[in-house]
Amino acid sequence: MDKLAYEIIDHEYDIVVVGAGGAGLRATLGMNAAGFSVACVSKIFPTRSHTVAAQGGISAALCNITEDDWRWHAYDTIKGSDWLGDQDAIEYMCKNAAKAVIELENFGVPFSRTEDGKIYQRSFGGMTTHFGKGKSAQRTCAASDKTGHAILHTLYQQCLKFGTEFFVEYFVIDLIMDHNTGSCCGVFAWSLCDGTLHRFWAHAVVLATGGYGRIYFSATSAYTCTGDGNGMVVRAGLPLEDMEFVQFHPTGIYGAGCLITEGCRGEGGYLINSQGERFMEHYTPKAKDLASRDVVSRAITTEIRKGRGVGPKKDHVYLTIAHLDPEVIKLRLPGISETAKTFAGVDVTKDPIPVIPTVHYTMGGIPTNYHGEVITLKNGQEEAVRGLFAIGEAACVSVHGANRLGSNSLLDLIVFGRAAALRTQDTIKPGVPHKKFSKDHTDWIIDKFNKMRFASGKLRVSQIRNQMQNTMQKYASVFRVSETLTEGTQAIKKVAEMMSDISVEDRSMIWNSNLVEALELTNMIPQAVITMECAANRKESRGAHAREDFPERDDANWMKHTLAWIGRKFNVKIDYKKVSDKTLSSDIEFIPPEKRIY
Ligand SMILES: Cc1cc2nc3c(=O)[nH]c(=O)nc-3n(C[C@H](O)[C@H](O)[C@H](O)COP(=O)(O)OP(=O)(O)OC[C@H]3O[C@@H](n4cnc5c(N)ncnc54)[C@H](O)[C@@H]3O)c2cc1C
Repeated sequence: MDKLAYEIIDHEYDIVVVGAGGAGLRATLGMNAAGFSVACVSKIFPTRSHTVAAQGGISAALCNITEDDWRWHAYDTIKGSDWLGDQDAIEYMCKNAAKAVIELENFGVPFSRTEDGKIYQRSFGGMTTHFGKGKSAQRTCAASDKTGHAILHTLYQQCLKFGTEFFVEYFVIDLIMDHNTGSCCGVFAWSLCDGTLHRFWAHAVVLATGGYGRIYFSATSAYTCTGDGNGMVVRAGLPLEDMEFVQFHPTGIYGAGCLITEGCRGEGGYLINSQGERFMEHYTPKAKDLASRDVVSRAITTEIRKGRGVGPKKDHVYLTIAHLDPEVIKLRLPGISETAKTFAGVDVTKDPIPVIPTVHYTMGGIPTNYHGEVITLKNGQEEAVRGLFAIGEAACVSVHGANRLGSNSLLDLIVFGRAAALRTQDTIKPGVPHKKFSKDHTDWIIDKFNKMRFASGKLRVSQIRNQMQNTMQKYASVFRVSETLTEGTQAIKKVAEMMSDISVEDRSMIWNSNLVEALELTNMIPQAVITMECAANRKESRGAHAREDFPERDDANWMKHTLAWIGRKFNVKIDYKKVSDKTLSSDIEFIPPEKRIY
């Protein structure tokens, strides 16, 4: 196939934001408002981004219902992260949380209200008062059980107000790097609706491409959560951080994988086993069902392993909210009532919901500092990659460390989306001309694209994807152990090798979902390999990474971030990055590691 057969359209912008979820839209808005020309490129319509599915809420110490302090929020986040979170980034996020939520309210987010008209806040797992010593904090600001929907639509409308230029249903294939300077100078994209190819030249590229939950078989994430930005980053020779930490949400609907929000337990719901026991009381007597997600997921898995699961196969448990006032359910949890009815055939006012831990969030991602700038290691030293930012679930700032607390992701999107917008104001100037590259600078991307478009091997995309998802689900699940991880690393490498025998049946350039899925799979495969290898490499238990052979946290040897690079033959190289123990101000002190008990 001759590359000249393609029509390639060049665009010049100050900044290109890839992704129109909560993170991408908040960054775009800030950058537009600061006078930059911004292109926001998204493979799906902005308001279909996975952020729309967020139910429970966004955290901020507003003190609308219970007493609160952003420092308590920071403490909870550090403890939730099992001391792998960077304390400077966590300080930045929690300190700016109230401002971020009020800003959203002023933008028009229709939050639920208390009787006296303030933003309604509910309890969420791991959120406490008085540095973990007080009662649970009602810190999670909610718009019924559709908070992400409310936020995403509001941000989109604000972007329209600012005249943002959206490139909708444009699939970004790769980053355009300047190999002489190592800086990023744009992206290469494919317009799905008319088949044209596009080069977006920019002084800053912001990756806001979301998580990669879909490397697993059972996930609450949308089918679009394939971690494309992470795939582009590894192809640019840059590392990914802490990929072994994958969050299993305790309450995905058994069989369907759809999420039942933690807000259910926040409103008073609880889990029961086959004996009708409220079993969380035995695991975490104080926090009970509101312990953090990794802890609850392990407790459920343990109940099932001990034969106390429900159903014919005894392979799941129940979540009940039937004892709650039906009015509360109608007002605060209408979405999950509908989801439970549709996907489990359950009337939540009468019967319990069958649930099982399901992949929900990926703590790892593209390493960044708290300005959103992508970080790599050069001669052992941390260095920012010029022109490249990452925010939202695609990034690893790291505020969530080894385990994210519920409602801290929506906050992360808004706070660091805004932070990236502020940073670009310090580092680039609007309207500066672009460096000119030779016409063939991006030929390698076209060659790669052609190779996939005309791939004529024996294996369908779905066959390889199923193998990958099943392998991840089997070998890198809630509990992990050396033997299965060793088997898992071999198995996932075999799956990766299947990529050389892939076939794409549809060769067209317009609405070719077969080719889109093949490109997404190309992005997911290296992430799956890295996740498995890093899980095998980390010989301790911390947060979501629970090793049966190394059940304790080992701060002396493992209080460090993993950085992983992957080569063409799927060989993984691992190095480490220090956990930041610095604080940004004297408003808060460093919180030293302690045993994590709820
Ligand atoms: C069911 C569910 C419920 C949740 N509930 C909560 C909650 O209550 N509170 C909370 O704090 N967190 C919650 N989370 C987590 C949180 O919603 C996500 O982490 C967050 O929304 C991710 O936002 P994002 O902006 O990083 O990415 P996304 O919203 O996933 O958006 C990614 C964007 O990138 C674009 N993109 C990706 N690849 C490409 C490509 N190759 N080319 C062009 N564009 C591309 C997509 O089009 C999309 O616009 C929930 C998650 C799920 C799955």
